[in-house]
Amino acid sequence: MTVSPRCAGKESVKKLRGQLFVIAAPSGAGKTSLVRALMQHRPDLRFSISYTTRPQRPNEVDKRDYFFVDERTFEQMAATGKFLEHARVFDHHYGTSKAQVEALLEQGENVLLEIDWQGAQQIRRAMPTCHSIFILPPSREALEQRLRGRQSDSDEVIARRLRDSIGDMSHWAEFDAVVINDDFGQATSDLAAIVAGETRRFSRQRPELRPLLDRLLS
Ligand code: 5GP
Repeated sequence: MTVSPRCAGKESVKKLRGQLFVIAAPSGAGKTSLVRALMQHRPDLRFSISYTTRPQRPNEVDKRDYFFVDERTFEQMAATGKFLEHARVFDHHYGTSKAQVEALLEQGENVLLEIDWQGAQQIRRAMPTCHSIFILPPSREALEQRLRGRQSDSDEVIARRLRDSIGDMSHWAEFDAVVINDDFGQATSDLAAIVAGETRRFSRQRPELRPLLDRLLS
């Protein structure tokens, strides 16, 4: 006799595969703080810890914020297919562990990736059912102010990041949803709404985005 899943014991009920959320933003849009706030709001979400060759910052913890590895280790991992995606961002390599993400999704966990637009492109190709979200700053001035607030970076780095940010923002239309980080609390609840299934309300196609995008990208 076959046992239908409805009658089967708890241990034999297979959890549905989890959902994958990909969040990207230009540098200085407040993505890291927003993701942190979202994770507090939704502790059930699992955050994928990336690998990077970038030096560890004073406030960062190895294996919590990133797996900090040397170039050789990173290259070996890339060559042996250990990454779901990987990219070079600001002179350093970053990559998402395939095994980590696959295991979590398989266990039915919803997984969050905080990566750059290049990585998001690769994830969309590898996992077309993912939900991708792009965060925009409310203005160029706000973007620059936020880049200056990060004391670990030099003026030269800030100027370059600002130029790069404008390039990054030109990829906004590749994402399913767009969130504007003007009011932090509002942006956090917008992200939470998307994770709860309201992607449509934050569609990249909503007309009110146009004037902001014109100002940001002009
Ligand atoms: P940061 O060095 O400031 O932590 O991050 C720099 C950029 O790299 C950010 O846009 C961040 O989202 C991105 N990033 C972090 N981890 C990954 C990753 O695993 N893959 C890709 N493609 N980008 C990442």
